[in-house]
Parts: sequence; C-alpha cells; structure tokens
Amino acid sequence: MKQHMDDRIEICSDAPGLHVVILAGVHGDEYEPMLAASELAQRLPELLVAGKVTVVPVVNQSAYGLAGRCGADQLDLARICPGKPDGSISEKAAFRISSLVRTADYLVDMHTGGMVHDICPMAGYLLHPDAGILEKQKRMALMFSMPVIWGTDPLPNGRTLSVARDANIPAVYLEYGGGSGLRKEVITKYLEGVLNLLRDLKMIAGAAVVPPVEKIFWVEDFNNDSGSFQSKMPSPAGGIFVTAQQPGAMVKKGALFGKVAGPETGGVVEVAAPFDGIVLAVRVAVRVQPGDALGAILPVTEPGMRTIQKGMEHAGDPLTT
Ligand SMILES: [Zn+2]
Repeated sequence: MKQHMDDRIEICSDAPGLHVVILAGVHGDEYEPMLAASELAQRLPELLVAGKVTVVPVVNQSAYGLAGRCGADQLDLARICPGKPDGSISEKAAFRISSLVRTADYLVDMHTGGMVHDICPMAGYLLHPDAGILEKQKRMALMFSMPVIWGTDPLPNGRTLSVARDANIPAVYLEYGGGSGLRKEVITKYLEGVLNLLRDLKMIAGAAVVPPVEKIFWVEDFNNDSGSFQSKMPSPAGGIFVTAQQPGAMVKKGALFGKVAGPETGGVVEVAAPFDGIVLAVRVAVRVQPGDALGAILPVTEPGMRTIQKGMEHAGDPLTT
C-alpha cells in the first residue's frame, strides 16, 4: 500500500483490472464520508482481488482544517474543478483531484448535507449524453441500495463529476444526512455500497446485491440546474427556520414544510410544499436569509422510474401563506 503526498491512498491488487477512485472531504464539514473512506482504505488491502482503488479521505484539507464547506480562500471545491496548478489553496486541491479523476475508470464522490442540509439517502449522477456511460452510471447508483436515485442536468461545471463527464468516466455522488453530530448509519451505508460496487466490478469476491428498481424513487430530471440543492425552495423571509418535515417523508402540495419566524418582530411566514412529492432535503442550519434554500422535494409520489423533461414541474418556489 502506497501513501502519496496529498494523502491519496492507493490499494493495488496483484491482478490487472479497473481503477476506481473514491473521494471524501470535497467539502470540509462532511465527516461520515471521511470516516467511511478511511475504513475502506484499511479494509481493501485484504479484499481486493483485481485492479486498483485510490481513496482520498480529505480532498480539501484547508476546508477540513477550518471545519467548513470551503477552504481558506472561501472557494467551494465542488465549483472550481478542474482547478489551477498555481492557484489558491482550494484551486490547487481541485487541480490535483481533477488530475486523479482523469486516471479513473469509475468515480465515487461521497458527501453529506454538511452543516446546512439533512438529505435523504441518495445516489446521483449527471445525465451523460453518451448512452453507454449513462448506463454504467445507473448501474453504479443502483449498487448503493439507496431509497432515492437522482439523475440531473449534465451541464454544470466545476464538480468532480464534471471532470469525469468530460473525460467520459462513469461517476456517481452520494448524499446522506448532514447537520451536527455523526451518524454511524451513513458510514455503514457508504462502506457497504462501495464494497458492493467493487463486487459488481469483479474487483472483490462475491456476488453484488442488486436491489429491486421498483422500490426506488428514481428520478431523471432534464431541467437546467436540476441537481442544485442551493436553488431549491428559496426562503421568502429572513429569520429562524422551524422545519415541519423530515427527509424521506411524503408530502402533499400545500402541506406545511416549515415556518420562518422573526423573533424580533413576532412575525411568522409559513412555507408550504409547492407540489406532491418526497422530501429530499431539509434545512438544518436554522438561521436563514431571504433566498436561502429551505430544502428540496422530488416530484414523485410512488417508487419507480420517472423522467422529468425540460419545462415540467421540478423546483418551484415554495408556497407561502
Ligand atoms: Zn458536499
């Protein structure tokens, strides 16, 4: 096992095969992925029978040092890839990680909602224009046995997944949980999911578990910027957000999503679901400014696959009363 300067950990089997890259800590305040990555790096040497896995437990070390989403330069590494070799600290980290991503046959980027959102367990991918790559991404996403799978607009740049897209490398990202505290179930889910993917790729022994597709809320949304949590359910007011929902809950249009309270004025603005669906994310950073995302709802009412073409309902402003 080799450890590089930028703290990537390479686990090489004795047999040739695929190269899988597993990332955590693109955001410095998402801790379960980092622990899942560390545990993977410890367990893989005795499990890997073919190919190579590169694990990076903390991609943006500057952000981790600050216990924040962004590095000391205030840059979000998931918006600045492929970075710059001679740029600021996050730009350099983005450059290094983008160079690594281009060497992969498959990429998994593990996240949580950080300190802002609590997210329903999900695997996501970009709706890649190449049918073969899209098919591989769907298979990858399935291997994580998540209740939600979300394919979104392929155009956004700056992400590790954008670098993978441009290099025609199948890639998925994972989201689960967030907020303060540590959830062991997130670590377990990510760890088991990666091992299951590696089984499916014949890189570790055993048969992969394939969950039934008909039980998954599987949405492919072709609207522009459909994958951005930051643009969903903008708060109509500033104040203290009191949620009425939980990730994974089913909601009806008009149902109370939460309230924004202004204790200095005594004012309360109620926020309602803009359509029927499943709650994908709920804001847990309670102090909000007008326009901050309060959460996200996926417009599906039952499991199974659904395609949302451009122009169909998908994001929408929350209803206020
Ligand atoms: Zn993240």
